[in-house]
Amino acid sequence: MTFRDDAAAAAEWVAAYLEGARELPVLAQVEPGDVRRTLPAGPPDEPEPFSAVLDDLDRVLLPGITHWNHPRFFAYFATSGSEPGILAEFLTAALNVNAMLWRTSPAATELEELALDWLAQLLGLPTGWHGHIEDTASTSTLVALAAARAQVPGGAILCSEQAHSSVEKAGRLLGLETIKVAVDSDFRLRPEALADAMGDRRVAAVVATVGTTSSTAVDPVPAVAEVVDGSGAWLHVDAAYAGSAAVCEELRWALAGVEHADSLVVNPHKWLFTPMDCSCLYTRRPDAVRAAFSLVPEYLRTSEDEVTNLMDYGTALGRRFRALKVWAVLRCYGRSGLQTLIREHVRLAHLFASWLEAEPGWEVVAPHPFSVVCFRREGSDEENERLLERVNATGEVFLSHTQLGGRYVLRLAVGNVRTTEEDVRRGWDALRREAG
Ligand code: PLP
Repeated sequence: MTFRDDAAAAAEWVAAYLEGARELPVLAQVEPGDVRRTLPAGPPDEPEPFSAVLDDLDRVLLPGITHWNHPRFFAYFATSGSEPGILAEFLTAALNVNAMLWRTSPAATELEELALDWLAQLLGLPTGWHGHIEDTASTSTLVALAAARAQVPGGAILCSEQAHSSVEKAGRLLGLETIKVAVDSDFRLRPEALADAMGDRRVAAVVATVGTTSSTAVDPVPAVAEVVDGSGAWLHVDAAYAGSAAVCEELRWALAGVEHADSLVVNPHKWLFTPMDCSCLYTRRPDAVRAAFSLVPEYLRTSEDEVTNLMDYGTALGRRFRALKVWAVLRCYGRSGLQTLIREHVRLAHLFASWLEAEPGWEVVAPHPFSVVCFRREGSDEENERLLERVNATGEVFLSHTQLGGRYVLRLAVGNVRTTEEDVRRGWDALRREAG
């Protein structure tokens, strides 16, 4: 077999997978160890054909895959490996460039700058910010908070009690205390509580979340910025999930006030149809980020001084050419295509919430401004937990849970490019059937 034959077979595999994913059980149906046990314990001595890899992908790996690219994956934040994103990943691997220095692939650095500029325009972000790509929001937030620490060494990090665990993890890695601030009844950070917590304390950074992980609450960034203003603390906005919503003008309210932020993270691998992994970190203060991270050994010194070397903006030296997939997604959907998808996901979430509200015994437990609905069935936490387990065991859908206001809560998150109203309806039917 030639590379062309193998590539054609892999492309056929991908096309058939995407067409047929709806028929597969969403949640992997294997027991711990099943996959490992079925494969040889050691590597082959002699070369095998690539077709053997594809065979085992079907035979052994597929049953052990939880299908994140399934239209009825409604857990966590639902995501999409969209077709342009998948193809761009293939091309990225072929080029295999390392975008650490401008010189090590000028097109990779310049496309990263361009793609992030396009994305900033699509989301209505302030002009003139510097953007670069990290693997995940956890890394982006770590980078932002490291820059903050360099400005106020030893200062604390303040965020709401609903902020993502990556904030506290970054604090732990950076040796900074993380202080959680109370939220209001809609799970948004309370600016007065923030002001109290800041008091006379030395504060390195405040993190506001636009679209919290549990309920997609939007912290009041303008009021948070007012509290932070003049304190010397860095304001970081975690818009990992909901930032993408700003591609639609009617959802852009969520990013109000971000012009006062020092940095903002948005993850195209969450709700912008870009395959894992891709997180965009924007900053108003690139000099501060560079000051925290730039360390150039002799072998990486170059003579160009007009260029950006993206290795200076984060922890990794080697950098994947992730910009290609962002650029491909932005081009192949265009503003209108992205808006159509996001609007449809929001519509489907609202529709699902309306079904819950219309049926006795179900309760929507938090506002749902985007594509996630938090809800529960009448009854105890244990009953809700068992309901979720039964629904997920059907393989028809995969939903996840959280805790809100001290109660166990179910979540349905819409976000896959192939999800239809019929898919959401099947989720609702499964919930009602298993609850009954
Ligand atoms: N921030 C928020 C609001 C999230 O919901 C998540 C994950 O769901 C993260 C950050 C971490 O994202 P990542 O997996 O890209 O590190």
